[in-house]
Amino acid sequence: MPTNRSEALLDLIRRGLVISGEHQTRAMLGERLSYVGMSDIGQFIQCPRVSIIHRLSLKKADEKLSRTLTLQRGHWFEDGIAKTLSALNLPVVRQLEIAVDNDGCPVRAHLDFLLVSVQPCPTVRVLEVKSCGRLPDTLHASYETQAYGQISMLNRYWNTPSFNLRNAEGNPLFSGLTFPQVIKALWGVAFPEDPEQVDMEAWVLALSMTDATAFGPYLPNESILTACLSSARDIWQIQEQVQRRELDVDGLPTPSGFHPLCSCCEASSGCPKFAGASHPELEPSLDELALWKDERSALDEKIREREGMMKEWYAHADIQAQWIEAGATRFRVTQNPGRRTLDRDSLAGELVELFHVGGMDDVDVPALIARHEKIGAPSARLFINTTNRQEKNNGLQV
Ligand code: SF4
Repeated sequence: MPTNRSEALLDLIRRGLVISGEHQTRAMLGERLSYVGMSDIGQFIQCPRVSIIHRLSLKKADEKLSRTLTLQRGHWFEDGIAKTLSALNLPVVRQLEIAVDNDGCPVRAHLDFLLVSVQPCPTVRVLEVKSCGRLPDTLHASYETQAYGQISMLNRYWNTPSFNLRNAEGNPLFSGLTFPQVIKALWGVAFPEDPEQVDMEAWVLALSMTDATAFGPYLPNESILTACLSSARDIWQIQEQVQRRELDVDGLPTPSGFHPLCSCCEASSGCPKFAGASHPELEPSLDELALWKDERSALDEKIREREGMMKEWYAHADIQAQWIEAGATRFRVTQNPGRRTLDRDSLAGELVELFHVGGMDDVDVPALIARHEKIGAPSARLFINTTNRQEKNNGLQV
């Protein structure tokens, strides 16, 4: 319960975010338990346990403010991109649904944005928007699966009556159209019946609060779609077994080794991947350590910012590597040469060539290089994960 007025305000905002997030999700995506979506499939491929728990825990009563903000940020980014695209007068539609029955398992793909043009040649772009705390260098496998799955479903079900669209309130605008019929209904133009005649790509736009990266293009891929649909059937079957209490989700496979999802997983409490002895007396020490590390990160960021400011000041001062006196402190900025590293692959290629010319094809070059590598002393690494403590009920977070 909130103890003062500022906490009461934050609690009010939190509750509003939960309600508005639920409304928006229901309006755009419908009843999520009644079908398997592409994001479920992407998550299932990475970790079956969290995917099933997430599906079966969609109706959570309570959420932390930081988590609701993170979830809502995704909706806000999407709304912002929608305004951006419409400001450009582009022919765009939001949340077009492709709904198919896959051997008794309902599968749906919701395309965040679909852009279409007829000139100079029929073109379709599917744009998936992802909100990230920090932009990744490479796209997460689950997001890639989603992008491939969406564009491949569009390609495979092009001429089937599988396309539906709702308005922002969730009321149907049309349903059961083929893709060319969708284009006719939305923009009144004829579009090819054969997807082969269309330039078709999916892209993922990753957005942070300060920057953006685009990943793509992803093209239709029948093998990936077949794998996605097979996972959808697995999800459907497991969900039914868990609901009938024939299966405990803790028996489901989890990824081995380090997995980036685990550090922010909603289902980390009681996850069998981290099964071990319990020592609650160590919690204060670990909490303190985590706090220090957070403080160090914040301080590192401050130092980086201040160093950047000083370097910029120096660059604009145009004083040719001179020292600057600042009271009892002095400083200057110099240019250092880049770090020198050995390109092992190119060295190996050159050695193979040289040994070949010298008639010594039997020399194992990778083994030769490995014999001259030095290995440092082994070190211990401390892994700390924060678990989401929630009551457990037959493996489900409630
Ligand atoms: S903590 Fe990791 S392994 Fe466990 S359910 Fe979550 S993502 Fe899967």
